Amino acid sequence: MLQSTLKAAVSFEGIGVHSGNPCRITVCPRDENGVAFRTKKDSIEALYNMASETTMCTKLSGANGSSVSTIEHLSSAMYGLGITGAVVDVEGDEIPILDGSALPFVEAFLATGIEQLSHRRRVCKLMKPVKVQDGKKWASLTPADSFSINIKCDFTQKGLKTDPMRFDFSKDNFLKEIAPARTFGFFADMDFLRKNNLASGASLENTLVFDDKGNPLNENGLRLPNEPIRHKILDVIGDLSLIGGAIMARFDAFCPSHKLNNQIVFALFENKDNFEMID
Ligand SMILES: [Zn+2]
Repeated sequence: MLQSTLKAAVSFEGIGVHSGNPCRITVCPRDENGVAFRTKKDSIEALYNMASETTMCTKLSGANGSSVSTIEHLSSAMYGLGITGAVVDVEGDEIPILDGSALPFVEAFLATGIEQLSHRRRVCKLMKPVKVQDGKKWASLTPADSFSINIKCDFTQKGLKTDPMRFDFSKDNFLKEIAPARTFGFFADMDFLRKNNLASGASLENTLVFDDKGNPLNENGLRLPNEPIRHKILDVIGDLSLIGGAIMARFDAFCPSHKLNNQIVFALFENKDNFEMID
């Protein structure tokens, strides 16, 4: 496995789903391993220990006080395509939500072109199982020869029925099965979110919204069956990409959240015997 970067810079413009503010990013080629978010004040490496907030989205913060929210869909798109090096220039404090999925990023990256570099890609091989728990929710990583994700969620209280899903990671599977899955939410939660300054930019343009019977309010319905669970997988990939290398492990979870996804990576790095980083 080799490192890859973009052939040229590509910009995205839109609004932040949580702030509701306009934002713009330019993703630039980088001839070294790792993704960095560059603000006016900071250069923030896309690593798990830079996460300062994991409520509803993953937010990274730099040493000089600037931050970038909602990095997970862009991170997922880059991991999905095997882009290991990039500098993301950020204007504003959030990554634009675009259509709520990873598809606009993926399509623009594929149109720009991806260049394979001569250096080897870092691989994180799990050596021992790790597990984290948050009430009924839990997530675990188990040693495996490839990266796979198994997720089960329970939204029955919100009126939504979802099926468990297993996803074997590959670029092609990611493009077809995961990248188009949009952010989702429940109409009944809107008031609470808005009062807490979350989802200020959410609309049917960028969020799949369900009523209390589990029916989508969006005009064209679902893009893919079981779209919410597919989006959960999209988020897991984006959040686990903060490990900083290709993942060789099986991820299982019940009701994963950005918080749990971040906690499992912390649990992984807690003990040197848990993993092997192969450069
Ligand atoms: Zn998401």
